[in-house]
Amino acid sequence: MRKFKEAISSWSLEELRALEEDIKNGGKESRKALWEKIQDSENNGKFCAICFKELEYNDRSFTLFFGPSDFKKKASFCAIDCLEYFMNHLKELDNERKIKN
Ligand SMILES: [Zn+2]
Repeated sequence: MRKFKEAISSWSLEELRALEEDIKNGGKESRKALWEKIQDSENNGKFCAICFKELEYNDRSFTLFFGPSDFKKKASFCAIDCLEYFMNHLKELDNERKIKN
């Protein structure tokens, strides 16, 4: 957590108070920010989520955001085929959930 100390050393008192307040309330905002940062840092967006082809900056790739509005997931695809495959998978998962409930 040394890095954390370093990071917050540049924060204003106002920002520190906001973090303290968030932690007191269960840390919902902090956890969300952390999760989003991890999502960004992972290979998400750099590789196709289906075939793992490395995506070039100028590829005509697709990025999909899904999930509840306060907890978005992100996936990138090299082509419509891969995107379609993923959508079908989501559809199957959704149907399974409907059957269970
Ligand atoms: Zn692909």
